[in-house]
Amino acid sequence: MSLHSTTARNEAAPGSQTSLRVANQRRVIETMRTLGTTTQATIARETALAPSTVSSIVHEMVTAGVLAMDSSHGGRRGQLVQFSDDAGFVVGLDVGHRHLTVAVADLNQNIKARERFDLPRGHSVTEVLDTVDSTLVSMVRKLKLSRAKLLAAGLTLPAPVDLEGRVVSAGAILPAWADTDVRAAASIRLGLPVTVENDANAGAVGEFAQGRGRGVQNMAYIKVSHGVGAGLILNGRLFRGATGSAGELGHMTLDEQGAVCRCGNRGCLETFISSEAVLGLLGTTRGPDFTVADLVDAALAGDVGCARVIGDTGRTLGTTVANLCNIINPELVVVGGELARANDLLLGPLREIVSRYGVQGCTRDLTISAAELGPEAHLTGALIMALENISLPL
Ligand SMILES: [Zn+2]
Repeated sequence: MSLHSTTARNEAAPGSQTSLRVANQRRVIETMRTLGTTTQATIARETALAPSTVSSIVHEMVTAGVLAMDSSHGGRRGQLVQFSDDAGFVVGLDVGHRHLTVAVADLNQNIKARERFDLPRGHSVTEVLDTVDSTLVSMVRKLKLSRAKLLAAGLTLPAPVDLEGRVVSAGAILPAWADTDVRAAASIRLGLPVTVENDANAGAVGEFAQGRGRGVQNMAYIKVSHGVGAGLILNGRLFRGATGSAGELGHMTLDEQGAVCRCGNRGCLETFISSEAVLGLLGTTRGPDFTVADLVDAALAGDVGCARVIGDTGRTLGTTVANLCNIINPELVVVGGELARANDLLLGPLREIVSRYGVQGCTRDLTISAAELGPEAHLTGALIMALENISLPL
């Protein structure tokens, strides 16, 4: 169930008892990373290892201080196994168009400290990393940790990111981040291995591991916000494509004669359903300070015009989602971003259009839901990506 392939760094001779043991330890750790706190019986089921092998590996790792057992539950194999507090911590960083969230979590994905900041329009990499670093200094002090206990960070941002962690082209959303090697800059500034990922991909990872996508093998997470994008989980793994840019759903062409998009093309989906486009429809009646949160609140309170705007957004998105479903045949489509809080006001019209334009074989068993983790999906994904980047003594 791991999201990424990992390369076993195994010093023992291939095929030896030792190498098999290390490989089995890695499988146990991979499962723990994905599931968080769990039982030995679940680890055995997920890894397909014999219960006695799991029991012996867990015992060794408890002795080494990597894992801990909660003896208050059930028999020995029903006892909860989790990462020990001594094993270390990870950092999650959710960088948005106008916000930054910094979180420190233990390896069981329990958030121990978090702080959210408003960011100015056009914020730069340097100022964001300075804020992150000073926040981590104070969090580590409050948690009474040594900074060395922070093992890795995951950073998510609303821009295309290549496989090396470089922002490809930030367009209008994060202009000051364009063509920056964010992974290198953040790793140097924070002194940690950092994984950098597009926010739709992080949302997909978060919802897949801990939200609506639990137990699902093929799903799309669609973020509708200032930008519009998709993260795709195919056969249980995040699909990044050849260069990391898979899922640029917001730039599907809907109208060749339409408005010019920030990508340079005309009539992209994003020009119809981004936050700016949606709020623009209400400009004359609501004024410039009206936000997407205000729009959703008003629609849920029964405002007909606001409900109409959200419903039409669902219908417009529906055509593109139907096309996506015809190509990848997912079991689940999760819609994230603030507009998804409108739930059926958005998803009802979306479902109607998907069932109209999707071929039956691709949409018959499809579920379309709002993100279970809501605005936490991106941060959860960032923490999981950080967890995948840690090295533990085996
Ligand atoms: Zn575009």
